[in-house]
Amino acid sequence: MTITIKKGKQADSLIHKVEQMTGQKLGTCFQCKKCTAGCPISKLAGSSPSEILRRLHLKAGDDLLNSEILWMCVSCETCSARCPMGINVAAVMDALRMLSREKNAAKQKGNVPLFNRAFLETVKYFGRTYDMAMITAYKLGTFKLMDDTEKFPAMLKKKKISLLPSLKGDGKTTRRIFKKAKERKEAGK
Ligand code: SF4
Ligand code: SF4
Repeated sequence: MTITIKKGKQADSLIHKVEQMTGQKLGTCFQCKKCTAGCPISKLAGSSPSEILRRLHLKAGDDLLNSEILWMCVSCETCSARCPMGINVAAVMDALRMLSREKNAAKQKGNVPLFNRAFLETVKYFGRTYDMAMITAYKLGTFKLMDDTEKFPAMLKKKKISLLPSLKGDGKTTRRIFKKAKERKEAGK
């Protein structure tokens, strides 16, 4: 497969930014592709974690933020666990997703960014994920309130979903973490 890489105006800024955000040394990647071999979605996404790393090395610009794989990645961390150089590839994907959202590149990727936002908001307020709030926020955003509701009783019966939030969540602490992260970001740290 031929990959076209569009260089950004500030050619080295994206890899530099990702390294800053993740604390990873991406230059140590030697393209062994062990991350890709274990990635459950790379075949579906038409791209791979090793390709993302390579494109960063080749100084890809913001064009990389439109890659579909960023929003198909399920954060399973298999890539990070398999990397012989100890690169936290999943954190790289996470950082690219954040940058994609910042640049609004994510708008083109269907409802995955919406789901991502709904997930993060529930973690922020409840201290851990709360399915009912997340589903409600997601469905309100899609305007498809009744889609898939036929599965709901069975999921409830099998205890795959809970009507109430977990008592173990510490929303106060997660809200503080989110606030701190926002302040750091605004301060450019
Ligand atoms: S974290 Fe994402 S990129 Fe890494 S193996 Fe899992 S799905 Fe693939
Ligand atoms: S496993 Fe690590 S070294 Fe190998 S291609 Fe992936 S990121 Fe690079």
